[in-house]
Amino acid sequence: MIPKKGEGVPDFVLLNQITEKDFIENLIIRHKTDNIYTYIGDVVISSNPFKRMNIYNESDIKAYNGRYKYEMPPHIYALANDAYRSMRQNQENQCVIISGESGAGKTEASKKIMQFLTYVSATKSSTDGERISKMLLESNPLLEAFGNAKTLRNDNSSRFGKYMEMQFNAVGIPIGGKITNYLLEKSRVVGRAQGERCFHIFYQMLKGLSQAKLQELGLQASPQTYEYLKKSQCFDVSTINDQNDFKDVLKAMDTLGLNQNDQSSIWRTLGAILHIGNITFAETVGDKVGTTSCKVSDQKSLAAAANCLKCDVQTLSIALTYRSISTGVGKRASVISVPLDNAQAVFSRDALAKALYEKLFQWLVTKINTQINSAEKGLVIGILDIYGFEVFDINSFEQLNINFCNEKLQQLFIELTLKSEQEEYVREGIEWKNIDYFNNKPICDLIEKKPMGLTSLLDESCLIAKSTDQTFLEGICRTFEKHPHFQSYQSTKDRSIGESCFRLKHYAGDVTYDVRGFLDKNKDTLFGDLIACLQSSADPLIRSLVPAAKPEDSKKRPVTAGTQFVIAMNQLIQTLLACSPHYVRCIKSNDNKQAGVIDEERVRHQVRYLGLLENVRVRRAGFANRQTYERFYARYKMTCKSTWPTFKGTAKQAVEAILASHKIPKEEYRMGKTKIFIRNPTTLFSFEEKREAE
Ligand code: ATP
Ligand code: MG
Repeated sequence: MIPKKGEGVPDFVLLNQITEKDFIENLIIRHKTDNIYTYIGDVVISSNPFKRMNIYNESDIKAYNGRYKYEMPPHIYALANDAYRSMRQNQENQCVIISGESGAGKTEASKKIMQFLTYVSATKSSTDGERISKMLLESNPLLEAFGNAKTLRNDNSSRFGKYMEMQFNAVGIPIGGKITNYLLEKSRVVGRAQGERCFHIFYQMLKGLSQAKLQELGLQASPQTYEYLKKSQCFDVSTINDQNDFKDVLKAMDTLGLNQNDQSSIWRTLGAILHIGNITFAETVGDKVGTTSCKVSDQKSLAAAANCLKCDVQTLSIALTYRSISTGVGKRASVISVPLDNAQAVFSRDALAKALYEKLFQWLVTKINTQINSAEKGLVIGILDIYGFEVFDINSFEQLNINFCNEKLQQLFIELTLKSEQEEYVREGIEWKNIDYFNNKPICDLIEKKPMGLTSLLDESCLIAKSTDQTFLEGICRTFEKHPHFQSYQSTKDRSIGESCFRLKHYAGDVTYDVRGFLDKNKDTLFGDLIACLQSSADPLIRSLVPAAKPEDSKKRPVTAGTQFVIAMNQLIQTLLACSPHYVRCIKSNDNKQAGVIDEERVRHQVRYLGLLENVRVRRAGFANRQTYERFYARYKMTCKSTWPTFKGTAKQAVEAILASHKIPKEEYRMGKTKIFIRNPTTLFSFEEKREAE
């Protein structure tokens, strides 16, 4: 890993001076010379090249397989190799946490890691291992088709979070996998910003299904026919080939055991969503004076939707325009049917489309999991690829969740790499100078703390019948009036914060959120009539999307979307904390998706909020490796005469004996209270080599 002239240093720790200027200069040189990977110690920094790089071939995988990091130029494969080696060597679960803003290259990185792991583990394994590897890989195109979309930031933006666990047996042969998904941005089904697209699968399906199949579903091949797709005026994307991608999806479905019936039901559901979006309503004069009601005015779309859903047209029509409400208790209990006005009917129509899509997505993940999950838990390498921090002109409930998630991951990074590293030096009595870093716990607390965090206050508003988005906003403006991370128009008189908005000062920048729709999105209810309608479907898959509620559930207050997300994020953090972490920090080189361009200002901003400079400083003063005396002794005792086969004395004394016998210079290590700290990785590797030679 010797730096090549004119290509910058391969590890930021090797910079002559650790200043922001030097850091960024190095990053730019690396990018311009096509070295998109650079280390900070064990952390991989990746800058998006926006062009195909000739560094991901089979020969590259082979070159990195089994090698030590310092032997080769920086690469994402080196990190994957380290994770795989550590898992087997220490019999410990590993995780790879990939972070960076939207379009920075997280999903690409996660796929490269999977590609490496499946390749190196399958070549040493049985045919079963290969079969599993194939399924794990094929889950990518399938889930991307349903969960990714073109946004203004990224042509293939992940609109869901994903934690993929690859399971291996003790010797490293793949035995299965498990996917955990997080909050899909389902509002995209019914609307999105101009110039963006709905989920890829809709465009793929219209282009890829046979004419006969389209006809059976009553679909036109042109996406312009469908209101839901037409809205945002974007159909084709130059970097995307929907037709080819659709072929990959079909192949993946076959590999993952989705049979023809499953596939047919999936097209039905998607077709139904498109037809549902075309249903319009017309006000009618209510039965009683002063009431308004409406009826479906577009019978053709209604019939087509019912045909796709395999349910009765009349049932669907009534479910869309009426709502059953239970009144009275005991003997007086009865159900009355209340007509919906036009706006309510449109709302419930869109809720149906969103729910169908979200539940279909969940079905897909569950289906893949049943195919790939192994009964044996084994050892795990988890790869986290989640939606990146994002700021749009209008930011809603979805962006709040996405950005909160990034906030939590940043906090985890700080805890694991900066804070814990420094605390450990102190605990072990190693001399050390403290380094400041941005602590984003206050903003995480602002969102998730009970009972007065944003999420709790939103839940509370959802319970009070009189509450509106606006009263919720007023409430939080009062509560957080003096909070350093919260701003509103009232508190700042800043006109750029609209009347329906509040602003959060996130670690990655300020984001103004518009509260309109917050309450509904958080409640996330689908009226019972629509659920009943779907349950009456003759299609078993569609029926299974809406399982009948258990009687005990009716008494429980449903958990809101916001709270569910906070719980899921905290569970995720617990899972990650139980693994040995590896980090990839992705940097978006420019906002125009241009090859060969690196925008200094944009890069500086990311380097700052990702805390990369602090990372280098902590690392440089720090040590490449540390381990308990017991472990070090157990692993290397055979490399030294006086410790093999046994040693009389403490583990610490044994380690001292080993170090002395190999003449390791004093500045190369420090003896802490319970652990040995080794400065350079090469020193550790020399022990590994000696161990292997024995
Ligand atoms: P989001 O948060 O929106 O999901 P992301 O961080 O997952 O964003 P990616 O989808 O991985 O971003 O990357 C965006 C685009 O950048 C890719 O579609 C690809 O064109 C390009 N890109 C990213 N990484 C690489 C790479 N290593 N080599 C070549 N191109 C890349
Ligand atoms: Mg992504």
